Amino acid sequence: MNNIKTDSIYKNIQDAIRKAGENLGFSDTTITNITNPYNIITESIEVQGIDVPIDMYRVQFNNALGPYKGGIRFHPDVNLDEVKTLAITMMLKCSLVGIPMGGAKGGATLNPRDYDEKQLEAVARAWVRTMKDHIGVDKDIPAPDVNTNGQIMSYMVDEFEKLVGHSEPGVITGKPIAIGGSLGRTQATSQGGVYSLLKILEYFPEKAGDKKVVIQGFGNVGSYAATILDKEGFTIVGISDSRGAIYNPAGLDVQTIAEKKRQSRESLQDMFATNEDVIKLSNDELLVQECDILIPAALENQITDQNASDIKAGVILELANNPTSIAADKILNANNVLLIPDFLANAGGVTVSYFEWVQNRQQYYWTAKEVDERLFKFMTDATDKTYALGQKENLTLREAGFKLAVERIGKAVALRGNK
Ligand code: NAD
Repeated sequence: MNNIKTDSIYKNIQDAIRKAGENLGFSDTTITNITNPYNIITESIEVQGIDVPIDMYRVQFNNALGPYKGGIRFHPDVNLDEVKTLAITMMLKCSLVGIPMGGAKGGATLNPRDYDEKQLEAVARAWVRTMKDHIGVDKDIPAPDVNTNGQIMSYMVDEFEKLVGHSEPGVITGKPIAIGGSLGRTQATSQGGVYSLLKILEYFPEKAGDKKVVIQGFGNVGSYAATILDKEGFTIVGISDSRGAIYNPAGLDVQTIAEKKRQSRESLQDMFATNEDVIKLSNDELLVQECDILIPAALENQITDQNASDIKAGVILELANNPTSIAADKILNANNVLLIPDFLANAGGVTVSYFEWVQNRQQYYWTAKEVDERLFKFMTDATDKTYALGQKENLTLREAGFKLAVERIGKAVALRGNK
């Protein structure tokens, strides 16, 4: 991924919002408000134990619906355009699923593989010191994203509370249960995506085919999507990590693989180095293998005009953010591939983050069943609404979702009198 690619994704999203906003009759000022970030914070910071300064980012896109909300990514490709793109997507997501939060995103430009646990803790704490005045339970609530997890969130909440001098667990979501996390948060993005997928398959049962699934990315989101779908009776035939893919048309034992993968840094291909039933493929090859459902769960811009026409799946569930380029979207649509867009498909993560924030504020915690039932309701309601508008106005799920999301956020901005 490079800047040019994310830059164009950002511009495409801005254009799509502008178009939807114009169709909905919003003023130019309202449209400007929902296509440009309210605040951008970026600093290059010296971190103890690391010999190069680290670039830190927070983009606060829009808070008309409630406090800013969005994850923090640690990755060597993190740059301002990428963070802006992820922040505008968060705004759409919160708006579409109907939670009272705005959009934001953050990041630090580094390759976590180059650092040990102590150094990553130092980066997490330095990120919070940099952003201290901009985040808070009623201001902006970060969460995990690529290469950040419950442990990193624990360092962050600890640093923030030390700085402000009081307990404020709701400043960060995606925390471990022991320090105020919500039951169900770790697998929420994947579980929410599965609820949306199953709902869509109720409307298009023929698309389920033989229920064979390929998943790109086997981190938090990809691995839970695999194990949840496996339990739902789907067969996971291919998975990948950053170092390559494994494929077995007869199915992979994803429960065991996920267990192993969470406990070691071994690559998927190394895990199966001597197993001849399992075919080793590149990540690009994996995307075009035979399957019914393809789930990108890694990074941006993986399905492009270069590979879209070779995709065999009938359904794409975008658990990653912005995995499909606009050009690819058109090709997939022409080929009758049904695409469940990121800002709907992966909204389960921010939905349970919102539940965590509510529980932190009340200091009263819900059971796993309560979390799950509420997640189910948010995801299936948003999916139903998107499907219904798509049918009514002959729109794709992405176009319908865009329209619904822009309508809610645009109304809130206009009612506030714009900035
Ligand atoms: P993660 O760091 O836990 O996992 C990322 C996975 O992608 C890893 O398996 C990594 O090896 C793999 N990967 C990296 N580069 C790759 C490449 N070029 N090809 C194939 N695989 C590659 O991150 P995550 O939290 O699982 O996030 C994955 C995606 O889901 C991201 O797009 C993220 O923005 C999105 N997302 C995450 C959440 C969440 O709650 N964690 C919520 C919404 C959306």
